[in-house]
Amino acid sequence: MARQQAIFWGLSSVLLGILLWRMPINGWGSLVWLSGLMLLHIIRTPHNTVASNTASEETYHAASERWLLLLVGLGMQAVPAVHLSTGLFWFANRAQFTVLLAIGFVCLAVGLWLFWRSHVDLGRNWSVTLELREDHQLITQGVYARIRHPMYTAIILICGAQAVLISNWIAGPVGLLSFALMCIIRLPREERMMEERFGERYLEYKKRSGRLLPWSFRGYRG
Ligand code: SAH
Repeated sequence: MARQQAIFWGLSSVLLGILLWRMPINGWGSLVWLSGLMLLHIIRTPHNTVASNTASEETYHAASERWLLLLVGLGMQAVPAVHLSTGLFWFANRAQFTVLLAIGFVCLAVGLWLFWRSHVDLGRNWSVTLELREDHQLITQGVYARIRHPMYTAIILICGAQAVLISNWIAGPVGLLSFALMCIIRLPREERMMEERFGERYLEYKKRSGRLLPWSFRGYRG
């Protein structure tokens, strides 16, 4: 854990230096994106510590979960970091607009707030992969009262911010694409796992909540 922290902060500091230097090329949206990534990491760190000290009762789809997490890590961190520091996808650069930067900033702020709130509400039941904790509690209050997957909604908002803040047709949307794939594969599995564990209580909860949005949109409500 301490080693992972050191690697993240070491690489982020180097990246920050490079992005400051390349600001005239990438625009200040790149710095907003990196600040968001750092804040996301700061929010998650204490929960990672709790998670590593909380016993798991059951782990689901472990192998494919690891691949999906790797893919999301590439899409949300590695690909944009490499592009912004080397100009790798120069051929896919696009113009940047102030209105897009403003939208990106708002999406990032709302996404980070929801990310923090859902971690607080989920408490010791949170895990990075699909797991059930010993003595797992079903959370249906706070931001979970009307949305079943607020943390995924938060990450979608953060990936949306990446798409507009980074003015490149590859390094921008790649986070959203990789996370969308993860959601498509993981959401039905996660809900099946919760249904198996909590039965009628989860089915009741499903009736009064939306999957990713608090209101009832066909397709978003499970
Ligand atoms: N999908 C949720 C949680 C993401 S963390 C969200 O987007 O907010 C993933 C873990 O959270 C899963 O392994 C599952 O054990 C747990 N989980 C998901 N929904 C939960 C709920 N309503 N109550 C308690 N734990 C939940």
